[in-house]
Parts: sequence; C-alpha cells; structure tokens
Amino acid sequence: MKAALHLLILAGIIAVVAGCRPAEKGAITMKTNDKTPDTNVVKVTKTDEEWQKLLTPEQYRVLRQAGTERAFGAAYEEFSKQGAGTYVCGGCGAELFSSKEKFDSHCGWPSFYDPANAKNVISRDDFSHGSVRTEVICAKCDGHLGHVFKGEGFNTPTDLRYCINGVSLKFVPNGEKVPAKPEPAKP
Ligand code: FE
Repeated sequence: MKAALHLLILAGIIAVVAGCRPAEKGAITMKTNDKTPDTNVVKVTKTDEEWQKLLTPEQYRVLRQAGTERAFGAAYEEFSKQGAGTYVCGGCGAELFSSKEKFDSHCGWPSFYDPANAKNVISRDDFSHGSVRTEVICAKCDGHLGHVFKGEGFNTPTDLRYCINGVSLKFVPNGEKVPAKPEPAKP
C-alpha cells in the first residue's frame, strides 16, 4: 500500500515536470525549419569591428546584437511605400524575401508570410525576455532579422508572420541587380 502511494507521488512529480518544459511550446514547425540545412550556403564571417564599419549604428544594433527597431519607424515607413522587388540582407546581401510574400499585418514592422529564398532564412528558438519565440536569422551572415509567429489568423497562404526589422533588409526594386557582395553602409 505504501509502495503504491510512493509510485503515485512519483508519477505526479514526473507529470508536473514534463508539463513545465518550455521548449515544446516555442517550436514552430514550418517549411523552412523542416528543410535539411543547406551546407552549400557560403558563410559570410566578419569581426565585430568590420561589421561596425560596414553597417550603420542602428543596423549593427539590430543585425549583430539582436536588437529591435522602433515600431512604425522610418524603415517601416519606407517599406510600406516600396513596390515590386526583392529584399536582401542588409548585412551580407543574401536574398531573403520578396514583395510577393509581403503583407500588411498592422504591427509596425515589415511582415512576410514566407521567405523568397528559404535556404537563406533559418530560425531557432529564442528564450530571451522571459518569453518563448522563434528568432529568424540570415543563414549566410547569422544576422538577426526578427521573429516568426504562427497561427495568428492572418488571411495568408501559410498563417506565418515573419516580423522583420526594416533596417535588417535592403530593398532591390525589380529591374535592378541584386548585389552579390556586401556593400558599405550609406553615410
Ligand atoms: Fe546576411
């Protein structure tokens, strides 16, 4: 009888501990996550000093220090006016998103429902600031782009919202050449 009681208490403890594991809550299953990492992606690696010379202070804070730009800021204003084109990484020039997957989520940051070039966009669990989110980074330079959220009910083909910092992106209008190499930051 006593042994059975101990077993019951042990089962209760296991159930409580299992229920507290946060990792499973934050994991978002999406097609970019399900792909085997592309080992052909050529990494762009630079020292902190090199990134600081290449990027504006705000780009450096967001891309290299996982910062977040102000909602409805200047980059978002520009984004909302841009037409057809490609969005490349503001750090390394990798093709990330396109205007075809852009949608207005009214959140104050550029929103896409899918990446244009999935091999250049990877995600990982982010447990910072006491919450469980999925961080989106550039596969080539590991620059922080933003976060991705699922199941918010937007009327899009994927029900995903890639919430991206505008300063992490560089817009290349259709007809202009996508830069192959990182470009120096504009003064
Ligand atoms: Fe990049």
